[in-house]
Amino acid sequence: MHDARIQRLLKRLSGDKLDALLVTSLPNIYYLSGFTGSTAMLLLTAGKRWFLTDFRYHEQVGKQVRGGYELFDNTGKKLVEDVLPGLPGADKLKRIGFESDHVTHATFEKLSADESHEFCATSGWVEDLRMVKDESEVKLIRESVLLNERIFSELLGLIGPGVTEADLAAEIGYRAMKSGALGVSFSPIVASGANSSKPHAGFSTQELAAGAPLTFDMGVQLGGYCSDMTRTVFYKDCSAEWEQIYGIVREAKDMVTAQLKPGMLGREADAIARGHIAAAGHGEHFGHGLGHGVGIEVHEGPRLAAPSEQKLAAGNVVTNEPGIYLPGEGGVRIEDILLVTADGCENLNTLPTDIQVIG
Ligand code: ZN
Ligand code: ZN
Repeated sequence: MHDARIQRLLKRLSGDKLDALLVTSLPNIYYLSGFTGSTAMLLLTAGKRWFLTDFRYHEQVGKQVRGGYELFDNTGKKLVEDVLPGLPGADKLKRIGFESDHVTHATFEKLSADESHEFCATSGWVEDLRMVKDESEVKLIRESVLLNERIFSELLGLIGPGVTEADLAAEIGYRAMKSGALGVSFSPIVASGANSSKPHAGFSTQELAAGAPLTFDMGVQLGGYCSDMTRTVFYKDCSAEWEQIYGIVREAKDMVTAQLKPGMLGREADAIARGHIAAAGHGEHFGHGLGHGVGIEVHEGPRLAAPSEQKLAAGNVVTNEPGIYLPGEGGVRIEDILLVTADGCENLNTLPTDIQVIG
């Protein structure tokens, strides 16, 4: 599995006339090796695959890393000054690609100062591969989605008088870790009442507001893969106005699920939901993109948004998350994860989106 991914990357390497690719992004390193530690680099060449890390991770590399790598101990060593001169055969590498999206300016200056190698900027090479999930990845995302849904269902039973947004947010992380997840895939949003009008509200120690939307946007990181789901419920009561808004958002989401397919551009998918919400008179209340890819990271490609020219392909896993937000009053967002299939898409979420009034 890791070997096949590396092979695809190496093809691009030779196409661009590079002798090696230096991979420094940790999610990309995980994708190409299975390594979950916090410090490592990969140096990939047609003939040799080096895994560079320090003493703390040597035992972990032996147990975890797949893909035909040879470990190089870089404890206390600097890449340009110590590592490259010490790697057998590295003197023959002339042009080395680096991940320009993940390198600091200070590191870039050091690479540029290396007189023995020409470092060439690459962008999105591993990310492009990661956008199309293989079967093993889809299986892991499904498991992450199901755990996330189970925790959400449990949270609904905790809603009641005196309960705060923070109480519910804390339960997400606690329950995720107790269930074998590494933790949450992003800091959860539990937004009640007027807080729910801010799409990225976070959570507060405020008690839940009655008769108002209560938005949960949450995900867990299980088996290396993220989930991301939003549900808006109503505490104690739901007005006719909120019921109508909820219905528009739900219709927009369902229209996307019915129409999304390979070959569609990110902006075309976005326009399905945006057109419906605008026709209902709420265009100005839907100010964010429709969705994003999900995988090793909770936000990755492809993007479903008005400026996105990315073309969807079978194997993409993307969120579908339209919303309507009324400043100072509240908001409704519903989010599921879709797997793009050969002729359409499959909703990986299983929980219904019927309007729920709790308490
Ligand atoms: Zn989300
Ligand atoms: Zn999302």
